[in-house]
Amino acid sequence: MVVGSSKLRKILTVKQEMVEKEKEGKMSSEKERVCSPSKRDAPFFSWPWENLNNFKYLLYGPLIAKVLYSIYKDEIKKGAWCLHILILFEHRALVHQLWSTYSSMLFLNRTRQIDQRGVDFKQIDAEWHWDNFLILQAILASLVYLSFPSLASLPVWNTKGVLCCLILHIGISEPLFYWMHRLLHSPTLFQRYHWLHHSSKINHPFTAGHTTFLEQLLLCIIVGIPTLGTAFLGYGSITMMYGYLLLFDFLRCLGHCNVEVFPHGLFETIPILKYLIYTPTYHSLHHKEMRSNFCLFMPLYDKLWNTMHANYWAFHQEICSRTSSRVPDFVFLAHVVDVISAMHAPFVFRSFSSIPFSNKLFLFPLWPYTFLVMLVMWAKSKTFLCSFYHLRGKLHQTWAVPRFGFQYFLPFAAKGINNQIEDAILTADKLGVKVISLAALNKNEGLNGGGTLFTSKHPDLKVRVVHGNTLTAAVILREIPRDVDEVFLTGATSKLGRAITLYLAQRKVKVLMLTLSIERFTKIQKELPADCQKYLVQVTKYQAAKNCKTWIIGKWATPREQYWAPSGTHFHQFVVPPVIPFRRDCTYGMLAAMRLPDEVEGLGSCEYTLGRGIVHACHAGGLVHFLEGWEHHEVGAINVDQIDIVWKAALKHGLKPV
Ligand SMILES: [Zn+2]
Ligand SMILES: [Zn+2]
Repeated sequence: MVVGSSKLRKILTVKQEMVEKEKEGKMSSEKERVCSPSKRDAPFFSWPWENLNNFKYLLYGPLIAKVLYSIYKDEIKKGAWCLHILILFEHRALVHQLWSTYSSMLFLNRTRQIDQRGVDFKQIDAEWHWDNFLILQAILASLVYLSFPSLASLPVWNTKGVLCCLILHIGISEPLFYWMHRLLHSPTLFQRYHWLHHSSKINHPFTAGHTTFLEQLLLCIIVGIPTLGTAFLGYGSITMMYGYLLLFDFLRCLGHCNVEVFPHGLFETIPILKYLIYTPTYHSLHHKEMRSNFCLFMPLYDKLWNTMHANYWAFHQEICSRTSSRVPDFVFLAHVVDVISAMHAPFVFRSFSSIPFSNKLFLFPLWPYTFLVMLVMWAKSKTFLCSFYHLRGKLHQTWAVPRFGFQYFLPFAAKGINNQIEDAILTADKLGVKVISLAALNKNEGLNGGGTLFTSKHPDLKVRVVHGNTLTAAVILREIPRDVDEVFLTGATSKLGRAITLYLAQRKVKVLMLTLSIERFTKIQKELPADCQKYLVQVTKYQAAKNCKTWIIGKWATPREQYWAPSGTHFHQFVVPPVIPFRRDCTYGMLAAMRLPDEVEGLGSCEYTLGRGIVHACHAGGLVHFLEGWEHHEVGAINVDQIDIVWKAALKHGLKPV
C-alpha cells in the first residue's frame, strides 16, 4: 500500500498524539486503579462458587446426570435441552480458547498487536476463572427451561426469528449495554465493580469474561432479551439460540483480542461499516482511556451520544499500515522437546503454559493432533516466534526451531536442523539482533560443534552466537559445596564435563573421571598445569565411586549405576533429560537454571519444567553476553577462565541463583 506524504505526516502526528494520550490515559487509568479500593466486598462482586476453585465444574453435574439418565431410560428427547445447553456452552468455551490461541500466535500477527506489552503472570492468575460467566448462564438457562417447558420444543430454524432477534439486539440490547456501561464508569460503580475488568493491563480474549458477578448478571439481561424475547414472541429456533450466543462470544473475544483483524481498506470501501461493527482497536481505546467507546459491538451508539474516540480512525489506520514489528535485542533459540510438552507452548493453553510443564491427563487425548502438527512442522515450518518479555526497555524473544527432541538423534535429519538454525542466525543478523543464544540440542557438539559450524562459515556475522554453557558450568560449580575434596563425574568428555573437570582440578578437588578411553583422559589431563594433573583420576566403573558422596552426572545413569552411590549422595546433573531419581536415600539436583532479574515485564509463560521467571542457565548465559555487550562469539569449547567472570557478570545484572 502506498501512503501519500500528507497521509504519512497525519499518521505520524496521530501516533505522537496517541503516545502522549497513551501516557495520559495510562496515568488516568493508573490513578483510577489506585483510587479504586480494590475491595471485593461490594454486594454481588464475588462469584458464589469462588471457594470451589476448579470443583466449580461440578455445577454442570446435574445437567450431565440428566442427559445420562434420559439416555439410560431411552427418553433422549426429554433430556435434549440439557444436552443442547452442554454442547452450546462447551462450544462457547471453545470460541474463547480459539481466540486465545489466535491472539497468542505472535508469528502470525506480531505486527498487528495493538498493545505490544506482554500479558504477565499476574494478569493470567487474575483472569484464571474467566469462564465463570458460562456456568452462570448455563444455570440460568436451565432455570428458564424448567420454568417454561415449551422452550424445550423449539424448531431447528425460523427465518422470522433471526430477523426478530436482530431487531431486539440492535433496538434494545445495544443501547441498554451502552448506558449500563456508562453507568459502570461512574465513580461509585467503577470503584466497586468495573475496576476489575479494567485491571487487566493488556486485552486478551479471556479479559472479556473477567468481570464481577453483578456485571455478568447484567450481561445475562443483554443476551436474554434477543434470545428469550424472540422465543416468547413465538419465533424462537435452536439455530438462533446457538447462533446468537456463539456470535456474541465471538465478538466479545474479537474486541478484546489485542490484534487488529479488520483491514482498514474494508471500512474505506464500505464507510457505514465503521458504525455497525467495532474493532479490537476500538475497544482497546476504551480500555486505555475509559472516557470513550462504551458500546457493546456497534459504534453507532457512541456516535449517537458523542462518545466516539476522536483518534480512533487514524489509530486504526496506523496499526493496519504497519509492515514490520520491533526488532528484538536478544533471541533465545529453543526447540520442541516432545509431542506432549509441545502443548505447553503459550499459544496452546495460556493457563497451562503459565505453570511449569508436567504431564497432565487432559493432554493425552490431544496427542494425535499434536503429532500431526509435528509432521506438518517437519515438512513445512520455519523457525517461529514463540514468546517474549521486556527487560529494562529491551525486547527479548524466544524463537523455536520447528524440530522435536527425537529428531536430533536421527542422522538423516541433522542437515535439515542445521539449515534451520543457520537460517535463524542469518535472519537475526539481518534484523540487527545483538545476541542469539542456542538452547539445548541446538548447540549439540555432534550436530554443529557447539555453534562453531555457523561462526566459521559466516565470519562476518554481526549477531553474536552464544551457547551459554559457560554460565551453565558456573551454576553447576556454585552448587558444589566449597569443602568437597572429591567428586565423581560422568560425561567428562562433553563440553560441560571437560570445563567442570578442569575447573575443579585447578582448585585441587580430586575428580574421579569416568571414561574408558585413556586417550580422552590424557587429553584433558594435559590441559591442566603440571601441579594439578594429579587431581584427575581415571576410573572405568561406577563401583569406583562407592565412597564418593558428590556425583556430577553428565550422562544418563541407570538405576543399577545409581545404586553404587553411597547413602546421602547428592547427584548434580547436566544430563538432558535429567536422570530418574531412583535413590530414596540420596538427593538430586535440578537442571542448571537462574532466576531472571526482578524488572522483567510481560512474561507469562514458563520455560519447560522451570518455575515462573526462571530460565535455563544457557538462556541466562546468552542474556549476560548481551547485557555485557561482549563482542566475541561463545561457541565450541568452554573457556574455563571465563567461568568466574560470567558468574560475576550474571549476579551484577540481577540474575539470581535458584
Ligand atoms: Zn473490555
Ligand atoms: Zn469499561
